[in-house]
Amino acid sequence: MNVVFIAAECAPFAKVGGLADVVSSLPPVLVERGHDVRVVLPHHGIIDDARFKIEHLDSFEMMWAGGTARIDVSFTRYNGVRVYFVKGWPYITGSESFVYDANEGVNVGRYLFFSAAALAFINRRADMERWRPDVLHAHDWHTGMVPFLAAKLYPVESALRTAAVVFSIHNMQYQGWGVGWHLDHAGLPPVDNHLLAATGKNDNCLAVGLAYSTMVSTVSPSYAEEILSSEGAHGLDGVILTRRSRMRGILNGIDPVRWNPASEGVLEAPFDAERLDEKARNKAAIQRVLGLPVKTGLPLVGIITRLVDQKGPEIMVPALRHMLYHAEMQVISLGSGDPHWEHEFWKIGSDYPSKAIAYLGFDEVLAEQIYAASDLFLMPSKFEPCGLGQMIAMRYGALPVVHAVGGLRDSVPSDVGFLFNGFHYNDVITVLTEALDMYYNRPRFFRQRQKRAMSLDFSWGRSAKAYEDLYTQAVDYHHQYLN
Ligand code: ADP
Repeated sequence: MNVVFIAAECAPFAKVGGLADVVSSLPPVLVERGHDVRVVLPHHGIIDDARFKIEHLDSFEMMWAGGTARIDVSFTRYNGVRVYFVKGWPYITGSESFVYDANEGVNVGRYLFFSAAALAFINRRADMERWRPDVLHAHDWHTGMVPFLAAKLYPVESALRTAAVVFSIHNMQYQGWGVGWHLDHAGLPPVDNHLLAATGKNDNCLAVGLAYSTMVSTVSPSYAEEILSSEGAHGLDGVILTRRSRMRGILNGIDPVRWNPASEGVLEAPFDAERLDEKARNKAAIQRVLGLPVKTGLPLVGIITRLVDQKGPEIMVPALRHMLYHAEMQVISLGSGDPHWEHEFWKIGSDYPSKAIAYLGFDEVLAEQIYAASDLFLMPSKFEPCGLGQMIAMRYGALPVVHAVGGLRDSVPSDVGFLFNGFHYNDVITVLTEALDMYYNRPRFFRQRQKRAMSLDFSWGRSAKAYEDLYTQAVDYHHQYLN
C-alpha cells in the first residue's frame, strides 16, 4: 500500500512530544512490512539539514491569497523512509526557531499553509512519478484541514481524490481554532459541512479533520472510549459521535532500537534484565552529575514531561512535597512548559536540595539517562491519549506510577506498575508509599516487577498490523464513496 504521512513533528528532525516519536517509528515498520510509506513535514528552522543530509529536491508555485506562493521541497531518506520537508514564504521560511508558535492564530495560519503545500507537493510528485497514494495519513489538528482541502481543491480523477484520508488524533485538547479567517484570507473555500456549522465547529481544524476524513483513529483503545464524553472530547463529542463507526483506538508502540538500555551511547552502564544491578551505576552517575548525594540505595523517582495541566502537576507537586518531607527518596524531574509549573518544580528542588532536582528544559540525552537511573517513573496525567514515557520507562526497568486512564491504563499492567483511579494528590501519596514500601521491604518483588517490565513488548508489531487493517478499511470505504 502507498501511504503518505503528513505531520508537524517527526523525531529526530523536530520533536516536541510523543507525536514526533510515532511519526518517526511507525513508517519504517510499515516499510519493512512491504509498504511504500513517505513522510511530509514542515521545513522547520530548527531542523539540522547538514546532519541529516537534507537536500533541495523541487520548487513550484502554489495559488495563495490571490497570488502565488513559492514552495521549496527538500528531501532525505531516514530508516528507509522517504522524508520531504516543505518550505514557503511567509509561514515556513526556515528561520523560525519553533515547531509551534505561542500564538494559536499564527499556528492555525501556518499549518493551513503547510497542509495546502504538502497536498500540492504530493499531487505534483504523484504525476511526476506516475505513483498514486492509497492513503493520506494526517496527524492531529495541524493537518486537520488535509481531507477538506483534498476534497475541495482537487479534481475527482487526481491522485489526491482517489486516496482515502486517515486522520489520527494524538490529543483532543489541542484543536486549532479560527481557521475560517485564514481560509478566507488565503482565497480558499469556506468549510460548508452542515453538522459543523450547526454545532459552531466549522472554524475548528480538529473538527474539520474528524468530519471530512474517511477513517479516524486515536492512540489507545481506552482513549477512544474516553473521547465519547463531552469532557474527554473537549467539546467535540457531538462530532466524534457522528464518526464513531469509523473510529479505531490503536495503541502506540515505541522503537525498541532507539530506546534500548543495552545499547552503548549515552548511558554510564548499559544494562538489560539479566544485568539489572548495572542500573545502580546509572543512578550514581546522574546523582553525581546533577549534584545530588550519591546514594544508590535510595529509591529514585524520575519525571520526564511537558509541564502542562494535562500531565497532572496539580497533584504531583503537593504529593512530591509530602513524600520528600516524610520519606527517604530522591526525585529528578525534567520538563518545560507552563511557567507556573516550571516555578513550582524549581521550588521543590530548592526546598529539598539534597533530595530533589528540577531540570527545566528539553534534553533527550538527559531524558534517557533519567529513564535508566530511575526506580520509579511518575506520570499521573489527568488524561493521557497514549503516553510513551511510561513505556520507555518500563523498558529501562523504571516502574510507572500512573493514573489509570487512557493509554496509561492500556499499557501498564497492574503487576508491573502502580496504578491509581482517583485524581487527587492523596492517591499519588498512597501508591508512591506502597511502591516505596515494596522497594525497601520486599526488594525481591520489586526486582521481579522490574524484570517483568523489561520483558514487555512495546514494539510496533501488533499495532502496525492494526494500521494496515485501518488503511484497508479506509480504502474500501473511499472506493465505495467514489463509485
Ligand atoms: P506527550 O506527547 O503528551 O508530550 P508522551 O508521553 O506521549 O507525551 O511523549 C513524550 C515524549 O517526549 C517521550 O519520548 C519523552 O521522553 C519526551 N519528553 C518529554 N519531555 C521531555 C523533556 N523535557 N526532555 C526530553 N524529552 C522529553
